[in-house]
Amino acid sequence: MSQKSLNHHNSDLFVKEFEKVIEKPKTEKSKVYYTGIDLGTACVVISVLNEYHQPVAGAYKYADVVRDGMVVDYIGAIKIVRELKQEIEEKLKTELIYGAAAIPPGTDVLDSGVVRNVVEAAGFVLTNVLDEPTAANKVLNIQNGAVVDIGGGTTGISILKDGEVVYIADEATGGTHFSLVLSGSYGWPFEEAEVFKREKKNHKEILPILKPVIEKISSIISRHTDHRDVREIHLVGGTSCLTGIEKIIEKRTGITTYKPRNPMFVTPLGIALSC
Ligand code: ATP
Repeated sequence: MSQKSLNHHNSDLFVKEFEKVIEKPKTEKSKVYYTGIDLGTACVVISVLNEYHQPVAGAYKYADVVRDGMVVDYIGAIKIVRELKQEIEEKLKTELIYGAAAIPPGTDVLDSGVVRNVVEAAGFVLTNVLDEPTAANKVLNIQNGAVVDIGGGTTGISILKDGEVVYIADEATGGTHFSLVLSGSYGWPFEEAEVFKREKKNHKEILPILKPVIEKISSIISRHTDHRDVREIHLVGGTSCLTGIEKIIEKRTGITTYKPRNPMFVTPLGIALSC
């Protein structure tokens, strides 16, 4: 297996390994560890790889420290990254030194400095800051197609040609809107709807209620992919975990749509691979 990039066939295995180590970290010693830090609107995820770029640990926390791709709670973000770092260090009985981070495409000038400061203030030596679709593609290894990142606040569309990101767009519809729709539909508080939505066993029940929002996301995708010769879509981001979302998107956009095993962990793992 290439150390720096994986192919379609083994990217699912890679994500599966990561899911396992979140539950039960691998404690065999490594000469060096590489940490990926993903500061999202809904979630902060940390993934750790060993010297062979195999996942050995990971942790995540739902948090409200980023909005529209920008860090809005600087101190809160540092605190969470520090806590997650410490949690993994205790499990691995080692210090995590090197860290890489990602920023949404297009926010480079405005926010990469803040993200850098968060990672460094949390105690990492920062080795790299890259854009999210490039990070995701370190795991997916797509040459031509679109990476669609359906996160908490937004849906990001990145088109790749010959392995390079050539077009980006980010629009304000994501998992938060799903939870708002469920909250209205069931008459529950937002937080309750949010927790219910994340349970796989509830997906069959909620998919019909969420279909109009998924169709809106599909029309956003089409607006950016039409006339750009996109023949495949790869879904990443936590909201893509919703069972059946890929079928509705494929039907509405008319573009073959792939979903990795756990789309939420693709970008964080790609960040760690770039460390
Ligand atoms: P953004 O990309 O907008 O900055 P983010 O990076 O924090 O947000 P992710 O961590 O990719 O977003 O995804 C978070 C979203 O995914 C939340 O809205 C959350 O409710 C949703 N989500 C997480 N797990 C599931 C699941 N199993 N089923 C459905 N939705 C889920």
